[in-house]
Amino acid sequence: KTFDEINLGDGLKQNIRRCNYIKPTPIQRHAIPIAVAGRDLMACAQTGSGKTAAFCFPIISGVLKDPLAVTRRGGGVSTAACPLALILAPTRELSCQIYEESKKFAYKTGAQIAVAYGGTPIYQQLRRLEKGVDILVATPGRLVDMVERARVSLGMIKYLALDEADRMLDMGFEPQIRKIVEQMDMPPPGTRQTMLFSATFPDEIQRLASDFLSDYVFLAV
Ligand code: AMP
Repeated sequence: KTFDEINLGDGLKQNIRRCNYIKPTPIQRHAIPIAVAGRDLMACAQTGSGKTAAFCFPIISGVLKDPLAVTRRGGGVSTAACPLALILAPTRELSCQIYEESKKFAYKTGAQIAVAYGGTPIYQQLRRLEKGVDILVATPGRLVDMVERARVSLGMIKYLALDEADRMLDMGFEPQIRKIVEQMDMPPPGTRQTMLFSATFPDEIQRLASDFLSDYVFLAV
């Protein structure tokens, strides 16, 4: 299958072509149709495999198909931003890389994307969130901070992607990740779609998968 044969929506498809993505990588070929069909996913994916697009395309496509995306974005000086999708990554570098790539894929589609990472003053990132956001890319510690300040609400999250989950656990982010996921049980329960990407599959990752995913497809390519 080419990207054109997958039901991703015209705006996104145009951007995919603009980015010169012609042929899907193996992880993209398998993960995207499963994710677009709404299934939870645990995928084995190394850096360079094309995993970013594998979770970004279904998320952008899903957000654009959501008729309530615009009204749910939230934000404003005194209200929390209510993103529809959350992408968690272990480091500032990776979160910025995912943010830059996803912005290219969402170019002129109307999907609003923001990034939040630690190690830098929070105020600028909070100001960006006041404008409303559909897709938030974040590192776990900074996101917990924003949630505790009531500047981000995770109650509307419909799509969750965990990138480099093994690295996030190695860095000690498991308590923050669990806290984040606890905040996002949108009604009715079970309507969140979760995608977990990891290079390795130790017991702790298997445990995260059984706690966060439901009826998931396991992909190793
Ligand atoms: P990633 O593993 O997501 O970090 O992607 C590795 C690199 O491959 C990035 O520079 C992507 O822009 C590029 N890339 C990913 N998928 C494709 C594709 N289907 N066609 C061409 N380039 C791609």
